[in-house]
Amino acid sequence: MSSTLITGARILGGEPTDLLLTDGVIAAVGPGLEASGAEVVDASGLIALPGLVDLHTHLREPGREDAETVESGTRAAALGGFTAVHAMANTDPVADTAGVVEQVWRLGREAGYADVFPVGAVTVGLAGEQLAELGAMADSAARVRVFSDDGKCVADPVLMRRALEYVKAFDGVIAQHAQEPRLTEDAQMNEGELSGRLGLRGWPAVAEEAIIARDVLLAQHVKSRLHVCHVSTAGSVEIVRWAKARAEQEGGWTVTAEACPHHLLLTDELAASYDPIYKVNPPLRTAADVAALREGLADGTIDIVATDHAPHPHEDKDCEWQAAAFGMLGLETALSIVQHTMVDTGLIDWAGVAERLSTAPARIGRLGDHGRPLAVGEPANVVLYDASATRVIEAGEMSSLSRNTPYAGMELPGRVVATFLRGKATVLDGKLT
Ligand SMILES: [Zn+2]
Repeated sequence: MSSTLITGARILGGEPTDLLLTDGVIAAVGPGLEASGAEVVDASGLIALPGLVDLHTHLREPGREDAETVESGTRAAALGGFTAVHAMANTDPVADTAGVVEQVWRLGREAGYADVFPVGAVTVGLAGEQLAELGAMADSAARVRVFSDDGKCVADPVLMRRALEYVKAFDGVIAQHAQEPRLTEDAQMNEGELSGRLGLRGWPAVAEEAIIARDVLLAQHVKSRLHVCHVSTAGSVEIVRWAKARAEQEGGWTVTAEACPHHLLLTDELAASYDPIYKVNPPLRTAADVAALREGLADGTIDIVATDHAPHPHEDKDCEWQAAAFGMLGLETALSIVQHTMVDTGLIDWAGVAERLSTAPARIGRLGDHGRPLAVGEPANVVLYDASATRVIEAGEMSSLSRNTPYAGMELPGRVVATFLRGKATVLDGKLT
């Protein structure tokens, strides 16, 4: 029997209390607990949250192990306070069969830093032409429930409709990367006055909003579950708000949405540096969009924060803007960005953080053992967080194999002190165990 006694932790920011983790479950919660033989972790002043769950992670394995592997990515996840990540399907080979999703799932189990739940591709090879074997992936050992061609949009409305219909059989969800392809050919940054001035091809808000509008109507029409990845514009927030009100009234279909940490903090003006560290898809938008995303996340229009952790080796980022890859790291900084933009601004409290970074993403992914309350009998997936700490982000200190963090040199609040996956510490004293 292995036991850990966490003392003085503030669950969801509440009054200090103790938690006893025994054999992978929370065996007791309350002040003044005693347990002989248990390893004691002093959590005075620390906030305890359920282990974080990321619905949108790129682990790059198989195929781009020079950028990230399941092991390196889940180590980064644990350091960021995550106990579960959903690995996106745009690997090489694409995760469009039971064989590939089972391989990724198993690699996650073997590494042991965070549970890896593979996302299945919607279409074969992400080519947008023919539905992948969604049922076989759902029935596999990986029990896939989230399907996405992320990186690419399921642009064909007939395919999107069929996918939404198909996943109903096993309570799956289609997570759409909303990007109208014709409106974004060779797009490089947010379309606006600045893109014109910088001479970079614009990625207009309407290209995202048009797909979201279409997809919520499709989800309503076939009564299915739609999830919108990385919402980035004020207009998208409005459409999701409208759709949610409709869905709630009618019942039988749902729309959920995510925002990424970088879209909650950074704006398109950073592109003026021509530094591709700020190149991401969808692009950084305007300050008004950032404000609308924060408001939408606070009022529940946007359900969750998902990282879109997108590691790239330096040769794919240290080049001209036009040639550089889209994407930025996210796992190791997500909680700090959320504290900075949402908690320290008074928009949400720590219970709200737990809902948006653990409970709701686990619910959308239909995970039974993650995103659970910190209560007796529940799985011992816990993160201990020091909200009073500050740190200056250094790219070289990232645990990810890649270094493409846009926050290098920034001072951010908060530090993950410990992460427990089924009662076993993956991180202690801020370091991997
Ligand atoms: Zn995407």
